[in-house]
Amino acid sequence: MDDETRYVQSNDRPVGSFDGLTAPIYRASTVVFPTASAFERRYEQFYDGYTYGLYGTPTSRVLEKALADLASASDTVLTPSGQSALTLTLSAFVHPGDRILVVDTCYGPVRAYCDQYLARLGVNVTYFDPGVGGRIDTLIDPRTRLILLESPGSNTMEFMDVPAIAAAARKRGCLVLMDNTWATSLLYKPHLHGVDVVVEALSKHAAGHGDVLMGAITTVDRALFRRLKDMTRLVGLGVSADECSLVLRGLATLPVRMARAAETALKLAEWLHAQPSIARVLHPAFSDCPGHDLWRRDIGRSNGLFSVVPTKTAQPNINAFVDALRLFKIGASWGGTHSLVAPQDPTGARCATRWTEGRIVRFSVGLESPTDLLADLEQALPRLLRKIDPANPLLGEFVP
Ligand SMILES: *Cc1c(COP(=O)(O)O)cnc(C)c1O
Repeated sequence: MDDETRYVQSNDRPVGSFDGLTAPIYRASTVVFPTASAFERRYEQFYDGYTYGLYGTPTSRVLEKALADLASASDTVLTPSGQSALTLTLSAFVHPGDRILVVDTCYGPVRAYCDQYLARLGVNVTYFDPGVGGRIDTLIDPRTRLILLESPGSNTMEFMDVPAIAAAARKRGCLVLMDNTWATSLLYKPHLHGVDVVVEALSKHAAGHGDVLMGAITTVDRALFRRLKDMTRLVGLGVSADECSLVLRGLATLPVRMARAAETALKLAEWLHAQPSIARVLHPAFSDCPGHDLWRRDIGRSNGLFSVVPTKTAQPNINAFVDALRLFKIGASWGGTHSLVAPQDPTGARCATRWTEGRIVRFSVGLESPTDLLADLEQALPRLLRKIDPANPLLGEFVP
């Protein structure tokens, strides 16, 4: 055989049996078949076997199976991001003329997809108050196809009565889709409470290191799974084995990471709660957080995510405060090793409810020392109370 051929074939060898502790990374676009007729019949094994790298590799199957088991689900579909997991599910189940009910506090980009894309296709999108509970029944009409839940809302932390909503939806025959990114299957398993389809942004807690994007959709119904899997083929979405391997690595430490971040976050939230420049802390463990009693009933645990509402006088100084933080990096996303901070304004992103408290600051607490994180807040917080001359904001602080 010529060297040219031998070069091409150098990586073709089967490795035989080799057992490491973790799943090997199988990279593939092409999957090879033993015979022409096996190739022609390949779609018989589309859902569970291997036909083409985009639709699954042994590495992605290990992750799918792990996530299904953790969620008490039967199947998992992986997508390149949490947002694509949400939009793929909506496009798989919602048709022109349908009505969908969407929680008012849902993830911003999915709201944009509903308003800017689904609405244009002739889908009626109706938003509802996260506190609706069993009264969701009054919003369900014969056209209502699907209800989208997210609990708690990932900026303002309203907790929902998921079992009550799922029970009402079941009676009326509509599908319940829940974004469970906040809790992950560790803190809450929506499939055990009547939810049909659960989406999780693995980019957050599961990957956990701020360097991977992926989404997961789990189902308990084989027909729903097949519809979703068919949809991935239609639109051409898949994930790489390398990134599946990184998410599998993240899963192993998710429980300890989350517990540690939760403990630190609660400490910081309690300290912030006592500061005169903070009007309110938005964290489900605080009794004035909407849905606090439901959180106690259903979960009772938390993670590193919470927000604060600065007082009216402190509102103009929010950016100066955020800029003064050193350990908390400014950026989107959460659930990772590094602490993050992001100023947000929920006002414009509501229509079924009203947000009148102004801008908020969201923290995603990571794994740094709680003492160092507290010291960072302590050195930056005085910025919130500095007065700026409204006539000359560029001159900075002035002493009244
Ligand atoms: C981040 C996030 C998503 C989207 O995940 P990406 O992987 O960043 O697309 C969806 N839902 C919630 C609640 C999120 O926080």
